[in-house]
Amino acid sequence: MKKIAILRCLKTSASCAGTGCLRAFNERSEGFGKYAGEDVQLAAMWTCNGCGDSMLENQEEGIEKKIARMVKNNIEAVHISHCTSKKNAEEVPVLCPTIANISRRLEAVGVRVYDGTHGQHASGERLKLD
Ligand code: SF4
Repeated sequence: MKKIAILRCLKTSASCAGTGCLRAFNERSEGFGKYAGEDVQLAAMWTCNGCGDSMLENQEEGIEKKIARMVKNNIEAVHISHCTSKKNAEEVPVLCPTIANISRRLEAVGVRVYDGTHGQHASGERLKLD
């Protein structure tokens, strides 16, 4: 069975119950459409450790542990929720640099990172990283 995870924004999680992400996964729609008919388990739903005045104390150590959990639990893919992107002045969603950093670290240990969970911008394609 394929195991996947969702990564979302800590600040957004303060007022988000994750229903949009979980609905899309359960329906195998939007960012999860490519899994239709596949035996896939949503094995984790985690957040970054925050930024600015919402930063958690064990920021780096905690992220390292979460990345290690992905590897230890054989999670093949992490989908990045759209709440981790904010629109710029041209109304174009730009990925949070903290999430981009975590994504590079996930890819470096063999966990593939995909763009989106739900919503019109959720392509479900491999995340393009610089
Ligand atoms: S680092 Fe990015 S994803 Fe995390 S809380 Fe801050 S804005 Fe949200």
